[in-house]
Amino acid sequence: MDREAAHNRIIELRAILEENSRRYYVDNAPTMSDYEYDQLMHELETLEADFPEFASADSPAVKVGSDLEGSPENGERTREFVQRRHRYPMLSLGNTYSIQEVEEFSARADKTLGSAFTYCCELKFDGTAICLTYRHGKLVQALTRGDGIVGDDVTENARRISNIPKVLHGDYPDEFEIRGEVLMPYAAFDRLNELRVLDDEQPFANPRNAASGSLKLLNPDEVAHRGLWCTLYHIPAQSLDFDSHDQALASAASWGLPVSDLRRICRNISEIKDFIDYWDVHRKELPYATDGVVIKINEMAFQRELGYTAKSPRWAVAYKFKAEQALTPILSIDYQVGRTGAITPVANLEPVLLSGTMVKRATLVNEDQIRALDIHEGDYVYVEKGGEIIPKITSVEPSRRKPGAKVPVFPRICPDCGAPLVREEDEAKWFCPNSDGCPMQIKGELLHFTGRRAMDILAGEATVGQLYSLGYAKTPADLYDLTPRQLTSLEGWKEKSALRFTASLDKSKTVPFERVLFALGIRFVGETTAKTLARHFGSIDALAAASEEELKSVPDVGDVCAKSIYDYFRDQRHLEEIGRLKAHGLHFSTEQQAEAASDALAGKVIVISGTFSISRDEMKALIEKHGGKNSGSISSRTSFLLAGAKPGPEKILRCEELGVPVMDEDSFMALLPAEVKAVPQTESVEQLSLF
Ligand code: NAD
Repeated sequence: MDREAAHNRIIELRAILEENSRRYYVDNAPTMSDYEYDQLMHELETLEADFPEFASADSPAVKVGSDLEGSPENGERTREFVQRRHRYPMLSLGNTYSIQEVEEFSARADKTLGSAFTYCCELKFDGTAICLTYRHGKLVQALTRGDGIVGDDVTENARRISNIPKVLHGDYPDEFEIRGEVLMPYAAFDRLNELRVLDDEQPFANPRNAASGSLKLLNPDEVAHRGLWCTLYHIPAQSLDFDSHDQALASAASWGLPVSDLRRICRNISEIKDFIDYWDVHRKELPYATDGVVIKINEMAFQRELGYTAKSPRWAVAYKFKAEQALTPILSIDYQVGRTGAITPVANLEPVLLSGTMVKRATLVNEDQIRALDIHEGDYVYVEKGGEIIPKITSVEPSRRKPGAKVPVFPRICPDCGAPLVREEDEAKWFCPNSDGCPMQIKGELLHFTGRRAMDILAGEATVGQLYSLGYAKTPADLYDLTPRQLTSLEGWKEKSALRFTASLDKSKTVPFERVLFALGIRFVGETTAKTLARHFGSIDALAAASEEELKSVPDVGDVCAKSIYDYFRDQRHLEEIGRLKAHGLHFSTEQQAEAASDALAGKVIVISGTFSISRDEMKALIEKHGGKNSGSISSRTSFLLAGAKPGPEKILRCEELGVPVMDEDSFMALLPAEVKAVPQTESVEQLSLF
């Protein structure tokens, strides 16, 4: 690869990895498999090594993936947890999927250290890292890894995890740190996801994301109900002095700390391989997720000799297992219609246990993929989980094919509305062109519009399904016309649910233009493109008036996307829909959102904590509307802490330390112009006169 191509690829890889790192660590909703992510990371590492002139301290290849929302350097935090510096950095681990690289790690250790050392082999627990501090035998602090330098203080939440002892016993030292993983066992994960589906919430993709999301819940009592579990595996050498890692863990266990005994001291590569081979098979019997084996040099003196890179210790390596596969027969194939009309074949499978959860369906992507995999009806197929919830079929087991099995016939008419399907020359998928009349597309569009990343309206699949089938909503604008009577006639809905729904509709009127644009569901306009377009054009009118050429001149907007946007605004029905949404007060320009209602809070940096008569998001919007600035953490720059019911004790304490004033909701409201009426509390029925 020449220099310029390498530079371009490095930039591209960094952007892809940063984006996916955010989805994984911050949103807890990855869309790529770990294997794919790790392959891209390896490509970046290799390119940066080959072209050192493009190295950067900011590259994901040299820094630890961060679960902090926003940049820790800018001093302005929008998060809910107090952040604290780690006493000793919390690093990642070098990882590999290749046994040969484990052999190389061992050979390097042999060469550097001689032969008088051992390895401690452990399971690589697939959860989220935590660092606990005990002082005088009491748990005094729990921090997440954060960006490795600063972590979120989740002490109250850690105290609600049943197997983390609040008090130690035995001969424990006065003060020390111990690190490990918070996990969500499969049983708790399945229970949680069932409840989320019932509540019309998006289920978590995997137990790791569920554990990480649960550890960051704002209400510690809720954490207690999530069934989290902790296992500890590392006492930093700077914190306590032991001869070996294994000895440190044995001591920790004797003080009552949860340390896994599924570790083994290995003397050479052959024993390491035995350990890996054993757990590659038997990990499926464990009640929680593991994604590999960690091989650590056991003797602390040798660990010190090998030291660290900026990102990971040189004395350890993680061997990661390839995604688990399961073999199961296809029972039938459904052809699903997405919101854009794209037809996706999905196989119904004989239920099979995969990575601890029961898999019943897997995507077959498109017609070409069915052909490429050579799928026949009733075939036994290998299924694998990627980043998404729906697993993939990766290959067929030809030896188990029934004689005479037929190749599935891909439909040529829409399975939902019967319209003839079309496939453009350069498209991989078949499409139903009946966007106005196809029920699945209409419901899909409504769901996209109400989604958390779009307008964040309280209406999931079940609600949208009902609204559509009762003839109440066919387009997003219809949602804003729903009457209280229509809402309370929905199955399972009472006055309270109707009020909550209406409050979320009201709140959606403060959603910025870029998200409204994304919510419209224009083909090829994802979140990032919507943001770019909103910034570039400033208003929907300017965007609608843009020529294809103008659209193509916008960075990241290619020919296909430009044509799709251009065509969208040439469709009278879309213009009418936008007109109705405008009339309902949605933001269709960037100016609108910058419009401040008053400057009553100008220059004020405000931290909020606890619950209020309006939701926290509404409170934040109110602050911004009146010129104030929200911040997630208290510092000497904080003007005041706005404390609702049950404010975080940590925050109150911090205010006392720094002399930051604490204000209650009534006093705060008194700062705002008299005519300000906050949006009524979403939960409180009395305050809303909807009926
Ligand atoms: P990692 O998960 O590969 O390994 C380091 C972590 O392993 C430690 O921080 C610790 O939390 C954990 N661990 C578990 N058991 C351990 C043990 N016995 N001893 C020591 N540590 C143990 O590294 P990471 O930095 O946490 O995450 C990077 C990885 O996350 C990537 O390699 C990738 O697989 C995944 N990732 C995936 C995506 C995606 O989109 N799918 C995005 C970002 C990161």
